[in-house]
Amino acid sequence: MANNGEEVQSQDYIFKIVLIGDSAVGKSNLLARFARDEFYSNSKSTIGVEFQTQKMDIDGKEVKAQIWDTAGQERFRAVTSAYYRGAVGALVVYDISSRPTFDSIGRWLNELHTHSDMNVVTILVGNKTDLKDAREVSTAEGQALAEAQGLFFMETSALDSSNVAAAFETVVKEIYDILSRKVF
Ligand code: GDP
Ligand code: MG
Repeated sequence: MANNGEEVQSQDYIFKIVLIGDSAVGKSNLLARFARDEFYSNSKSTIGVEFQTQKMDIDGKEVKAQIWDTAGQERFRAVTSAYYRGAVGALVVYDISSRPTFDSIGRWLNELHTHSDMNVVTILVGNKTDLKDAREVSTAEGQALAEAQGLFFMETSALDSSNVAAAFETVVKEIYDILSRKVF
């Protein structure tokens, strides 16, 4: 990492990360779990939150992620271009117990690519793995879509915390690694 006695001043960077995906897939709860270790059994978590700045430790360096939540706009298919502006990372979320939310992923990826840089680091997230008996989308299907689209992939549960931090960290670490390579 060090080069000519210099190091990446990572604390100077704030990475904008956006959460997208259909309504009720658990975007707000993924953020609530990650940032505050909280979970809401209703949709209250969506209201009022625009973004949350979260300090993260990546390879022993402090990095700040500014994680944006949609505040429910996606219900009306009206996520504004301002939401995407300047994003360097994205979590594109579906609900493994809801096939239609998986079918929407292509549309969300199109929207992301319309409004942001093609190089935005993106992870496909299949949330609600705790709902085992209600699963409608297999892990293999999620994996295959991610591979075809060149995305990272992870299944999570905001309810039981499984892989939540890992999903955010995967994106932020990749952004950090890309930035480090560019700097040197
Ligand atoms: P958003 O519209 O994508 O922001 O979704 P929310 O975070 O508001 O969650 C929608 C609903 O799904 C709420 O009732 C949550 O309690 C529930 N939910 C979110 N994540 C999970 C999860 O991992 N497991 C289960 N069982 N329910 C979840
Ligand atoms: Mg929400």
